[in-house]
Amino acid sequence: MQRVTLASRPTGAPTADNFSLVTSELPTPGPEEVLVKVHYMSLDPYMRGRMDDAKSYAAPVPIGGTMEAGAVGEVIASNSPTFQPGDFAFGMFGWVSHGCLPASQLQKLDPSHGPITAALGVLGMPGLTGWYGLNEYGKPKAGETLVVAAATGPVGSMVGQLAKRAGLRTVGIAGGADKCAFAVETFGFDVCLDHRAYADAAALREDLGAACPDGIDIYYENVAGKVLEAVLPLMNDFGRIPVCGMISYYGGAKGADADLTAPMIWRNILVKFLSVQGFIIMNHFDRHPAFLKEIGPLVASGDIRYLEDIAEGLENAPAAFMAMLKGGNMGKQIVKLI
Ligand code: NDP
Repeated sequence: MQRVTLASRPTGAPTADNFSLVTSELPTPGPEEVLVKVHYMSLDPYMRGRMDDAKSYAAPVPIGGTMEAGAVGEVIASNSPTFQPGDFAFGMFGWVSHGCLPASQLQKLDPSHGPITAALGVLGMPGLTGWYGLNEYGKPKAGETLVVAAATGPVGSMVGQLAKRAGLRTVGIAGGADKCAFAVETFGFDVCLDHRAYADAAALREDLGAACPDGIDIYYENVAGKVLEAVLPLMNDFGRIPVCGMISYYGGAKGADADLTAPMIWRNILVKFLSVQGFIIMNHFDRHPAFLKEIGPLVASGDIRYLEDIAEGLENAPAAFMAMLKGGNMGKQIVKLI
């Protein structure tokens, strides 16, 4: 079997030499364990954090350890009555060609319900994140205005579509004209602005203000940085900011960069009585069944749409991951292994 390990820790953006492709023996499943041949694995922004030796909500990947990932594949051997060879399952197998986990840690998938890749994006962790963060902390109300960046990604596209369905004006922010066109045409955003087209937050704020004539009630935070600086002065009193991610800081932005904007950030929160709520979706997986019950049929009917970007081959996972962190992905980044 093959796996991708963490060869060294990045300083700033990850580079190819931070990863190593290793060949090892196929594991033999122990009691209650299931061996899965991975068909697709997920690439997610959180994996950048796992590469740092920093205190966080999750332990870092050790040097030489296998990179973490959710993945879907076919059962090829099982010592559990719950899984038979030929079944499909989701599990946190990692960046691997084959994974072996206890049956209790796997989720059975029914390929007749739709593409198994959906379990990595629109109906998996990222889709759940958008649904949960928007409803729980954004508290959307018809007639309000919502702004979300990384608007064509699995989190942002779920947030935008759900907000639209709830009767909000939706303004997306994405990197490049193609992504912006996709956000409007496929995900139904009223407007989408290309953050790369603006030299600084002030310039972005001007067009964002025009796109949000009644101000911003919900800013679903995925990226921070320039976008956050542009958004905050446009927030309405009692606005809500679910703080889901801050990808513009993941590439090793210095703490000092964030400090420069802190006074403006905090003043806006205070004088506008904003609710700012951070959350980590792994603490809320008990809501996954409710999410699937509500959103699964909407995905099946095509009312909720999704976009996937599929790279080929485990050996190409590092390059796809590095590109995704810079916006090279068009939709949920997945790696196809077979
Ligand atoms: P995406 O698939 O959307 O990929 C990341 C996107 O971020 C890139 O494609 C790029 O899109 C955008 N981006 C990167 N750098 C910048 C930048 N400097 N400024 C603006 N945009 C940038 O990711 P996901 O949908 O999977 O995740 C979105 C966010 O949600 C991330 O911050 C992630 O960490 C967070 N998250 C948080 C969870 C939680 O539990 N709190 C769980 C899951 C995700 P573009 O080219 O359009 O700018």
